[in-house]
Amino acid sequence: MITSADLKSLLSVPQQIVITTHHKPDGDAMGSSLGLYAYLIQKGHHVSVIAPTDYPEFLHWMPNNSEVIIYTEAEEQSVKLVNEAAIIFCLDFNALGRINNLGEHVREASAVKVMIDHHLDPEDFDDYRHWNINACASAQLVYDFIMNVMEEPQLVNKDVATCLYTGIMTDSGSFRFPSATAEVYRIAADLIDAGAEHWRIHQLVYDNVSETRIKFLGYCLSHKLEILRDFNTAIISVNKQELEQFKIETGDTEGIVNYALSVNGIKLAAFIIERTDKVKLSLRSTGDFPANEICKKYFNGGGHRNAAGGSSDQSLEQTVAAFKSILPEYKALLFV
Ligand code: 5GP
Ligand code: MN
Repeated sequence: MITSADLKSLLSVPQQIVITTHHKPDGDAMGSSLGLYAYLIQKGHHVSVIAPTDYPEFLHWMPNNSEVIIYTEAEEQSVKLVNEAAIIFCLDFNALGRINNLGEHVREASAVKVMIDHHLDPEDFDDYRHWNINACASAQLVYDFIMNVMEEPQLVNKDVATCLYTGIMTDSGSFRFPSATAEVYRIAADLIDAGAEHWRIHQLVYDNVSETRIKFLGYCLSHKLEILRDFNTAIISVNKQELEQFKIETGDTEGIVNYALSVNGIKLAAFIIERTDKVKLSLRSTGDFPANEICKKYFNGGGHRNAAGGSSDQSLEQTVAAFKSILPEYKALLFV
């Protein structure tokens, strides 16, 4: 481990830097990455953002998005940048498995590895850690890093503020989860002062739904939503044929699980989808119900208490059945 002073001194002269984030990046992953990018380039660093995979179109408007390298589309270039970097920032994840094959290259790289993250149970691969599970978003921690570790509030310009606001907004469910504390609202206000146009960001992220997606959502709600009143649980499961029929792409399924959770009385919602390689589960819960525990224990996954995910190598039907068979174990918690 290195100290804050060591890292500050390292960052006081221009360096080769890589920023990377998790598989299928979301608003917080890209917001943190591009926010940190916009900060670091002002200090004269040579910075590359490498996303392990592609990410939804509704995030492509962010400042400097055109600079992002997608690992699966440029493996050789990505590995070269990782190997040559002096510093690698790992944002919004804390286990190298979350960045697929890129993870082993990061592990082997000689760079100083900096983790900025808010997920439980960090793996031990980093040299410097700015980590807090109480943060509503990694973007909040990037802001805190710039303000309180680097002590450079003057470098929070419009681009930095726009990206960090996006991360905080998306990961806090538009400031409605318990993680959106008064402090988070204060940070949001500071970011608006620094140039983030909150109304525009909200519109770009949320009022940017494709016709396909809205029709797919309608299909899921009218044909696929299963309410299990005995367990205060709702499930939406979709198979490969349905995904093909609606030409569903990355990001098109984002947020559908929240509709299942919004049904009155529902404490746990699952969106279970048959991807090409495996079946993926997205869980959401309310209150103290530990969605991450189910994912960790039964579906090789994890996440936060109220938003977690995992996967299964079984068929879609078997996965749905397995999920249902777990519910009796949690029945008491589902009726709190
Ligand atoms: P989502 O349901 O949006 O895909 O994921 C919600 C949260 O669950 C993510 O922020 C992440 O923390 C966690 N998560 C999702 N999928 C996985 C997974 O396969 N493994 C682990 N460890 N966490 C996951
Ligand atoms: Mn996050």
